[in-house]
Amino acid sequence: MVPEDARDSKAAAREFAAEHVRPNSEAYDASGEYPLDIVREAQAAGLAGSYVPEEYGGAGWTLADRLAVVEEWFRADGGIGLALQLVDFGAKVVAMAGSPEQQAQWLPAVATGDEITGLAATEPSGGSDLAGMTTTARREGDEYVIDGEKYWTSNGVVADWIVVYAQTGEQRHDGYSLFVVPTDTPGYEAEPITGKMGLRASQQARLTLDGVRVPAANRLGPEGEGFYRLASFFNYGRIAVAGHGIGLAASALEAAWAYVHDRELYDDPVADNQTVQHRLVESREQFEAARALAWTACEHVMADDNPAFWASLAKSHATRAAEEITQTAVQLHGGEGLREETRANRAYRDVKYPSIYEGANAIQRDLAYSHWPER
Ligand SMILES: Cc1cc2nc3c(=O)[nH]c(=O)nc-3n(C[C@H](O)[C@H](O)[C@H](O)COP(=O)(O)OP(=O)(O)OC[C@H]3O[C@@H](n4cnc5c(N)ncnc54)[C@H](O)[C@@H]3O)c2cc1C
Repeated sequence: MVPEDARDSKAAAREFAAEHVRPNSEAYDASGEYPLDIVREAQAAGLAGSYVPEEYGGAGWTLADRLAVVEEWFRADGGIGLALQLVDFGAKVVAMAGSPEQQAQWLPAVATGDEITGLAATEPSGGSDLAGMTTTARREGDEYVIDGEKYWTSNGVVADWIVVYAQTGEQRHDGYSLFVVPTDTPGYEAEPITGKMGLRASQQARLTLDGVRVPAANRLGPEGEGFYRLASFFNYGRIAVAGHGIGLAASALEAAWAYVHDRELYDDPVADNQTVQHRLVESREQFEAARALAWTACEHVMADDNPAFWASLAKSHATRAAEEITQTAVQLHGGEGLREETRANRAYRDVKYPSIYEGANAIQRDLAYSHWPER
């Protein structure tokens, strides 16, 4: 379960979420606006951007802190939770793949809350296969020129800089590199994606990169290493995404429990039906199993013990359990659960996303199968 050293960050996130996230959940879901005011509050409280290592001014959160905190963010609201978590999305890539000089250049402003970051890997032609992206980065003297399109880039409009994943060679796995691209670079354009059914307060964009020039010094790690660096980065990300499922499932389960106890049908609470009680208990079983696996997987990833297997297993299990739990919660709400304003309905709409992003669950099972450990 939550290790001792992640309990303080979890408690701080829970308190912050109760004060700033939960009360604003419905309004941001309805408006679909990016919650910049809440992001700024979280940055000021040292709760966003906290993955930045301590030597660059951050809180030096571990993966356990991240999981503990996202459970709380997503329990309070998925869309605002995702916006809060992704403030340092690109910064974490720099922390994992960048040199000390690059970290000193890019990370302090994220730690102080002055900058927001992102990561652009997915393209309109597909996001499941990291070795299939077609955006190119061509070397010209001391610069790279980046051309292509990216899709679903979180923070694409609001970020100060984005880490862009692009092709620098012909090889399938050895032909990709990562670049820090300030969003005010000529040729960078971001158009918001609209019409999302859930996670509405988080913001994604379609990017056009048209002759975007960045110094060669903005390349993270050696040329051709991008695929491998991003693949290990996603092992971290998938533990956090397991936390998204757990947080949303917790929200739906709490809402369902409250509803069936409050709601009286012909003088008796809905909760008096034994089948209703059993559905709650089954959901709780699924929830506890998913959470236990997520924390076990987190330990394995932190210990670098077959991280691809554990992260994929945790992500696919937690998000699938969360889909089932939120569906039960909506069912137990009856017609009320079909109204967008209810907490169960919001979780039900939000929960479809983590099953797909950071690699759809079919891809997670491919990964788990190909990294199968001996017992
Ligand atoms: C809210 C949100 C935020 C996001 N943020 C970011 C971000 O910040 N940066 C970024 O780079 N991307 C981001 N993404 C993109 C996300 O990671 C991709 O949507 C995801 O990887 C799936 O890619 P795709 O949508 O292109 O689906 P596709 O690759 O077109 O796949 C479609 C479906 O086909 C099936 N499928 C695909 N391949 C296989 C296979 N090998 N075996 C079996 N079935 C398969 C799966 O069911 C999959 O869902 C975000 C997405 C969302 C929704």
